[in-house]
Amino acid sequence: MPSEFALIQKYFTRPDRPYRQTLLGVGDDAALIVPRQGCELAVSTDMLVSGTHFLADTDPQALGWKTLAVNLSDLAAMGAKPRWAFLAAALPQLDEGWIAAFTYGLFACADAFDVDLSGGDTTRGPLNFCVTVIGEVPAGQALKRSNAKTGDDLWVSGAPGLAALGLAQLQGRVCLPHPDPCLTALYRPQPRVTLGQALVGEGLAHAAIDISDGLLADLTHILDASALAARVECALLPTAALQQGAVAALAQECLLAGGDDYELLFTAAPAQRHRLHELSAELDLPLTRIGAMVAGKPGTLEVLGSNGQSLTINRRGFDHFAENRRTR
Ligand code: ADP
Ligand code: MG
Repeated sequence: MPSEFALIQKYFTRPDRPYRQTLLGVGDDAALIVPRQGCELAVSTDMLVSGTHFLADTDPQALGWKTLAVNLSDLAAMGAKPRWAFLAAALPQLDEGWIAAFTYGLFACADAFDVDLSGGDTTRGPLNFCVTVIGEVPAGQALKRSNAKTGDDLWVSGAPGLAALGLAQLQGRVCLPHPDPCLTALYRPQPRVTLGQALVGEGLAHAAIDISDGLLADLTHILDASALAARVECALLPTAALQQGAVAALAQECLLAGGDDYELLFTAAPAQRHRLHELSAELDLPLTRIGAMVAGKPGTLEVLGSNGQSLTINRRGFDHFAENRRTR
């Protein structure tokens, strides 16, 4: 293995790019970055640990993409424009081919979203990546979880549930006739950066979160932070996960409780419906209205089944809910 310095130089440093946005990047004691006037900085850190967040035999290129993408998703959920990333990497005795493939995936994601890798740290140790991302959001405009209003519509982007179906496929819990869309969702999540910025730029949304732990679980974070209740209607949910050829109970569980989707869940006033449908067409990204924020005991989530029955879901009730669906 080359020296730490040679490794950084060879794999984590890149020549200037036309849209370079770091005043001083990799190579000094600290990076220098300059935020645009009138913007606040949105800062987020996520760690990916081998054995916990990914398997050691995961394709390194896909892992590189995902390592950055899941961080950018957090910025998207604030409505921020990602600009800078920092990578702290612990690497065991790894072959250089692996590192080259990992950084290829990482930089592909950085290029796709105009992000500079502006610094980091490299050390020998159990395989582990910790990324910090910094983005900009117009002052006072960030999409905080705590800002949902009673009467807001609840919206979700994309096709939640596909990534969880992809994982189920890998684990042999399902045999999908055409697993590719699900595996792509799992391996190459698309952070909804453009959507987040559009929601802020046009003042369309009140609160947002990215779905990393499951649609219902992440919704409860908005409910708690905003001290509101919500109603989700199963009949309104995006159907992509239900159309992949998995048994209905599994598909429904993946749709409502599956993680790793990195879609945005957001609330918006009903007056924005028309514009949100237009935006969906402009971005070529499904935006689906799935329910509403309602008055009620804060934190209460009511799920209306497809045939109108009401199920009150508590925090630990997602599996229970899946049980219910299974026995129907
Ligand atoms: P120091 O000893 O001052 O912490 P390092 O030798 O750790 O400096 O890092 C040297 C330079 O390389 C710094 O600018 C640091 O930000 C950058 N760097 C180190 N590891 C990475 C990495 N994995 N990705 C990007 N930049 C890195
Ligand atoms: Mg260091």
